[in-house]
Amino acid sequence: MDERLKYAPCGYVSITHEGIVADVNQTFLDLMGYSHEDLIQKHLESIMSTANKLIFHSYFYPQINLSGRVEELFISLKDKDKQSIPFILNGRRFVSDGVEVIDCVLVQMRKRIDYEQELRSAKKQIEEAYWQKDQALAKLEQIHREIEQKQAELMEMNAILVELSVTDKLTGLKNRRFFQEKLDEQVHVYGTSRKPFSLVIIDIDHFKKVNDTWGHQMGDQVLESLARILTSHARGEDVVARLGGEEFVLILPNTDGPDSKKVAERLRLAVAGFTCEIGSFTVSMGIATFAPGDTDASLLKKADEALYTSKENGRNRVTHIMDLK
Ligand code: GH3
Ligand code: MG
Ligand code: MG
Repeated sequence: MDERLKYAPCGYVSITHEGIVADVNQTFLDLMGYSHEDLIQKHLESIMSTANKLIFHSYFYPQINLSGRVEELFISLKDKDKQSIPFILNGRRFVSDGVEVIDCVLVQMRKRIDYEQELRSAKKQIEEAYWQKDQALAKLEQIHREIEQKQAELMEMNAILVELSVTDKLTGLKNRRFFQEKLDEQVHVYGTSRKPFSLVIIDIDHFKKVNDTWGHQMGDQVLESLARILTSHARGEDVVARLGGEEFVLILPNTDGPDSKKVAERLRLAVAGFTCEIGSFTVSMGIATFAPGDTDASLLKKADEALYTSKENGRNRVTHIMDLK
């Protein structure tokens, strides 16, 4: 054998058509720990496991017979110590003087297999990391959903609290705080629009007597009845509120003095015509319509003054402050 082929940087084995080793180079013998005599005239399959023999029969021989060559066949061969050594095998059929041989070049694959194993392990680690990332993301999304739900609940709760803070518990009407806010708003709107608005204070007549005669509970029922009458007569934009005790208030937007008197008079008649367990009851009212120079406080004071006059003049009546000047 040519010296360069003998020590070529890869294994070289030449086999007959039957698989008998006809020639082998030193590189392959050194790699596998065999002597020349160990392999020459032996069947190549003698250094193969059963699985590799199967590969040889099912792929190597048919391929050689079909195309005369085999490329990149991955195969393991047993060395002297019976260790399995992986190789890449390229083979080519060669006919010399009428005798057919198959030349095989064998390149050891140990390093590549190590790399492949490292690659597989790295791939597994990456997959694991991705899985953990997906898990963390799913958890984060879940937390996000929970936060959103809690926020919605909090906003709902907040809205309920806001509603409660401006609502009168007994009658369900808006309370003094809400009334004061709306009055400030109307004063502000008047500043730009100059649209008249009126304020009506309503006070139940001789309410102390109702309580004294019928009891506090019945008094409460009268307050609730009055609240219902006021609400049913109010327009959508009107503000109906309980100032406290047996005093109620109406803000009538876009309503001048004469119109506010008509509204109040209608209300007074509705109350007087209402009958309940205590029979009937009446209310007195005082009205003031916002005019240039007024403030929220001055408007309230004027309406209160008009109410006082209604009481003075015999109750169950409506007085507008403009009629007193
Ligand atoms: P006037 O015609 O002058 O308004 O006489 P009045 O008796 O209605 O007025 P007064 O201010 O003397 O009495 C008001 C009464 O209203 C006294 C108080 O006990 C009662 N009152 C205040 N708040 C409530 C309440 O929430 N429920 C009940 N049942 N009574 C209340
Ligand atoms: Mg009163
Ligand atoms: Mg009263």
